[in-house]
Amino acid sequence: MTIELKPRVRKIIQRLKRAYPDAKCSLNHTNAFELLIATILSAQCTDARVNIVTQDLFRKYRRPEDYLQVPAKELERDIRTTGFFRNKTKSIQGTAKVLTEEFGGQVPETIEELLELPGVARKTANVVLGNAFGRPAGVVVDTHVTRLSHRLGLSAEKTAEKIEQDLIPIVPKKEWVMFPHLLIAHGRAICKARNPLCAECAIEKLCPSSSLKTGVLPGS
Ligand code: SF4
Repeated sequence: MTIELKPRVRKIIQRLKRAYPDAKCSLNHTNAFELLIATILSAQCTDARVNIVTQDLFRKYRRPEDYLQVPAKELERDIRTTGFFRNKTKSIQGTAKVLTEEFGGQVPETIEELLELPGVARKTANVVLGNAFGRPAGVVVDTHVTRLSHRLGLSAEKTAEKIEQDLIPIVPKKEWVMFPHLLIAHGRAICKARNPLCAECAIEKLCPSSSLKTGVLPGS
């Protein structure tokens, strides 16, 4: 299974790179710390909404200490529109505390250390390591990556962790960071959740779920 999937995945990557030459992390950030905060905020929220909130947030809070100098209520107000703002405030202030007390105010560069931060799960750690430090530690799996992995027949698993374990052996390591960006770009533009545009799809010939082959819209 894995052996036949690898060449197909390489072709999928090639074609998606041609279709989306500008694909990249869509959370605005200028450093690893900002990306860490933006990724915590992005849980259950669109990247577009996070980018609106972080425009002001990153002007007000520049270092981990800044998040510790305001009452939780104030930070909750500042991030309210991203949803789950009480939990996210706890995560951000908890993370800021650990960064300040244990890492000299710097974002650590290993997955083990990142996972010590409150509210930082494997997906967040992967996003930060891959996009801020250029260190692929895994494959980021979000809702788009989940949907497209299913449709493309790359994984039948349900949880992000298990899908990632299916993707790791078939996606070349040098593409671990870019692969999710390509799938997300394709998921937003063409392979949409409700109405995938298979007739316009750059990887239609490589996709077992294409409605042109099955006569049924994937996911319907
Ligand atoms: S052929 Fe259809 S289901 Fe397959 S990747 Fe393209 S848009 Fe998605």
